[in-house]
Amino acid sequence: MSTMASSSTGVSSSTDSETLRRNRILSSKLYFDVPLSKLPLIYSPSYNIQFLGIEKLHPFDSSKWGRICRFLIVDGVLDKNRIVEPPEATKDDLLVVHSESYLNSLKSSVNVSIIVEVPPVALLPNFLVQQKVLHPFRKQVGGSILAAKLAKERGWAINVGGGFHHCSGDKGGGFCVYADISLCIQYAFTRLNISRVMIIDLDAHQGNGHEKDFSRDRRVYILDIYNPGIYPLDYEARRYISQKVEVVSGTETEEYLTKLDEALKVAGRMFDPELVVYNAGTDILDGDPLGRLKLLELYIMRVQLDTVAFSFAQTNPYCTFEFHTSLELSKNPEFLLSSLHHQIRMDWCGSSVPRTSEYSFSLPLVKISPDGITARDEKVFRFAHERNVPLLMLTSGGYMKSSARIIADSIVNLSKKGLIDTLGSTGKV
Ligand SMILES: [Zn+2]
Repeated sequence: MSTMASSSTGVSSSTDSETLRRNRILSSKLYFDVPLSKLPLIYSPSYNIQFLGIEKLHPFDSSKWGRICRFLIVDGVLDKNRIVEPPEATKDDLLVVHSESYLNSLKSSVNVSIIVEVPPVALLPNFLVQQKVLHPFRKQVGGSILAAKLAKERGWAINVGGGFHHCSGDKGGGFCVYADISLCIQYAFTRLNISRVMIIDLDAHQGNGHEKDFSRDRRVYILDIYNPGIYPLDYEARRYISQKVEVVSGTETEEYLTKLDEALKVAGRMFDPELVVYNAGTDILDGDPLGRLKLLELYIMRVQLDTVAFSFAQTNPYCTFEFHTSLELSKNPEFLLSSLHHQIRMDWCGSSVPRTSEYSFSLPLVKISPDGITARDEKVFRFAHERNVPLLMLTSGGYMKSSARIIADSIVNLSKKGLIDTLGSTGKV
């Protein structure tokens, strides 16, 4: 992290803050020249969060990014020497979108634990949280930002990570600590001479982070297809979506793809983008082995929450915890499995500002098949390809054990269909 003082206090006019932002972007080291021997496929082993088994405490596969690459290498569509490793986003890079006070709030392990939804993180010293949790995310942010430059140069780019669409400049949540989408677009505006960007957000959840950040920015068109009945339920941010398509729980592949076709047609009529940012979350997948596995994870999570609550109550007598569970998790597994959405709400009372965190567990919500994911990605890439518009893809949400395989399969399909060229002009892997 940069130690350069970069306080924005005292900057009163928007012109000054615009100049400051511009200078930060222009002096950033995230845009570096990538030789043609490399592919526009961005990944670093440090994307993966693995630390003292913490990764097992979240019902997420926090090493899916590495597994995607391994599958691609085994399948023969990727040579690991041709992967681009991004630099880590520094504090100055993050300040392009984030407020100083938000970044400072991440010096509290409790705050980070709420954002990443892993309660035990609250108990770790912050230097470990920085190193083991936030560093991987900052590398992924570096990847998302670089992806725009590579997409402009090569026509396409994939960051095998990123897509933290719930985070805005001043607020994180839902596993999203940094607003990589907003950052990537601001860099593209300044460094790539681009003035019209389309975000196609097909993660199951609403992308409230970028929606808030670009609420008044007409240079950005947002198509968001999401399930309206689940996290983040951000009604204010919904007003900033240019084209919103709501898919209710239980929507199946054919209906979903038809809606996507229609939405892309409308988007293409309404807006002429110079860059497409595709947030390709795979949490719309039908839930396969989710059933029993998920149930076990819910039990584990419940124990974790109780443990954290207990230790907080012990160390701070003014701190009381209340758990509101929308479902009685332990009593009725059948109801649990058939239900579509579960939240454990954890209210942190007794400190100066009460904080509320939602722990969301998604059971099958939108029931898209693996082939449906492949078809979906192909449609979006084709949309950009036909218009000759550069596209960058971020993998975003979807952390079931099966997600990595499905994402890899979809990338293989894009390569087979000639929508991306993973073998490069030199041909040989
Ligand atoms: Zn999601």
